[in-house]
This record gives sequence, structure tokens and C-alpha cells, in this order.
Amino acid sequence: MAYIVYGRFMPFLIMKKLLITLLGILTVSSSILAAEGWITDYTQGVEEAKKSNKNMMVLFTGSDWCIWCKRLHSEILVKDEFTNFAKDNLILVELDFPAKNKPSQEVQDQRKALAQKYEIRGYPTLVLLTPEEKEFGRMGYMKEGAEAFVQHYKELAQKASSAKPQSGNGCEITLNYKDAPEMEGWMKAMKAICHEWYPQIISILGMEKASYQNVTITIDAGMNGVAGTGGNQIFLSKDYFSKHGTDAGAIIHELVHVVQAYPKYIPWITEAIADYVRLYHFEPNAPRPQVNPEHAKLQDGYKTGAIFMAWLVENKDKDIVIKLNKALHEGTYQDEIFKEITGKTADELFEEFLTSVQKN
Ligand SMILES: [Zn+2]
Repeated sequence: MAYIVYGRFMPFLIMKKLLITLLGILTVSSSILAAEGWITDYTQGVEEAKKSNKNMMVLFTGSDWCIWCKRLHSEILVKDEFTNFAKDNLILVELDFPAKNKPSQEVQDQRKALAQKYEIRGYPTLVLLTPEEKEFGRMGYMKEGAEAFVQHYKELAQKASSAKPQSGNGCEITLNYKDAPEMEGWMKAMKAICHEWYPQIISILGMEKASYQNVTITIDAGMNGVAGTGGNQIFLSKDYFSKHGTDAGAIIHELVHVVQAYPKYIPWITEAIADYVRLYHFEPNAPRPQVNPEHAKLQDGYKTGAIFMAWLVENKDKDIVIKLNKALHEGTYQDEIFKEITGKTADELFEEFLTSVQKN
């Protein structure tokens, strides 16, 4: 290797070259130093967790300065009790914030952003995530050692999976309030409600999984009416919701449409099921809606359809909404399904329903 000599700057240039080479070696070796089995790239960890359907354990550590991080490493993370368990059950990600031998600025920035995202307040912190990147617990150093550590992890994972049998049915919600920046706080409140309800809607409709794991909610200044949904895009009328901000039920109705994702829009039944979930699950304590048997028609859908669905659930088949939704979602729905489930056509059932309403 030949260096072009620039007079007296030569030693400096050579030193700089050497330094760069040295730094290169150090960067490489610092990632080799990460304990075996630990991925140092968060994104890669997420991909592998999804692929293998394993939970992630994300370690935020200061490997060369933080005493409890060192003890966590030497007393737990390198012990057989932990490594044997982790090998089969976990995707391990290590995000190191060393004092010396820092990784590239880009990597440091990525890690800082992740520490911020997970609101890391101290080191070491182990964040536990599902394969869908949902946090279900946190751990730290335990003086009881590796076996107790694994046991504690198992308890947290167990609790998380039994508390949410539908775990993995959450969704990412993106808000767009460019048209109404003053409604940011309200939009965030609605987002929280939707987060909570998305998996519940999936469960009420008896589905394994929704078609979408992402939903965008836009507040629209040019929109007439109340709200509308296309695919995983929900649009809310600024005019309506700036006056009726308490009407979260209307947004839940739209969120049901996102979960329904029916390939064919059959208005009465699609709207009936959306309002059924809203009125009988989301707003069970609100005053019960009424139908007027003189005027109500099967094709009305919405509230009339919702009350009809609730009547069917109570009087004909407790799983009827689940069965209807399945056929609609899979695109196999035909009106005959009512006869298959109950022995009567939809029109006959609706007549019977109206008669029962009249009697009350
Ligand atoms: Zn609707």
C-alpha cells in the first residue's frame, strides 16, 4: 500500500488512515463482543420475531460503564439456564450505549430514538415484546440469578397471553389532523379508544385475525355527513365531530367496517352488524334504541338492523353474528344462510321480530 506524500502532513495522514482502520476494527469487534445470540440491529430483530413468531427481549444496556448491566450480563445472560431457554423461545436484541468504542453516529441515533420510544429511564432495562412489537412487560437485573430470571419471564409471558387471547390483533393507528390541528388532543383520545377496541371487535365478530393491522384516521374539513370508511382509511367530518366530540360510538362503527373488510358491500347487513357492535358492545349502557314496528324494514340496516341482530342472538342463535360475519368476510354470503342457521328466511325472521316488538 503506497501513500502519496504531501510534505510534512504525511505523518498526520498516515495516522488518520491508521486511526480509521483501527476504529473500523473496534466497531466490528464491539459487535462481536455482544453476547452470542444477541442481535444488535432492532429492525432485524423485529423481522426475525415476526418470521419465527417468537417474543422479543430487547436489552438496553451500557456494557462498559453500568455496573448492574455488567452483573446482569455475567450472572444471568451468559448462564446456561438463560441461554438454553432463550435459544428456543426468544429473539434477543441488544442495544448498547457504551461510554467508549461507540458505534457509528447513525447507529447511536437509532438506539437513542428507540430508548426514547420505549421511555427508558435506566440501565439495564429489558423490554419484552410480542412478535407484533407490542410491549407486554419489562425486566431488569435480578440478584436471584438466571433460573429465577427465566421463571419471572415465563410468568410475564403467561400473564400477557392469558390476559389477551387475541394478542396480536392490535393495530397501528395513524392520525391525520392537518385539517384541524386544534383537535389533536381529541384525535389522540379517539386513537386510544380504537386501540383498545380493535382486538375486541375482532373477538366479538369471532375472527382469528383482521385483514388490516394498520388504520388511518383522518379528520376532514371538506366532508359532509358524519364519517366514512374505505379499506383501512377512516374519514371523520370535522364539522360534525367538532360539535359532537363525545360520539366515539360513531368512530367505533367505522372501525367495525375496517375489521369487516367485506369484499362485497351489502348495505343493510353490513351496517346492521357495525351498529350491533357499537350499540350492544361498545355502548351497552346507553339508552336502548327503539324500532317503530309500523315503519321498520329489513333493508333499513343501521339501528333497526342492530336491534334485529341482538334479537337474533338472543332468540335464535347466540353465534349468528359470527356466522354471518364469516360468510360476508369470506365473500360466500347469500340470503339463504338465514334459513341454514335458523330454519327461516331473513324476511320471516324479521316479521317475527317485529311481532315481538309490537307485543312489548
Ligand atoms: Zn357504516
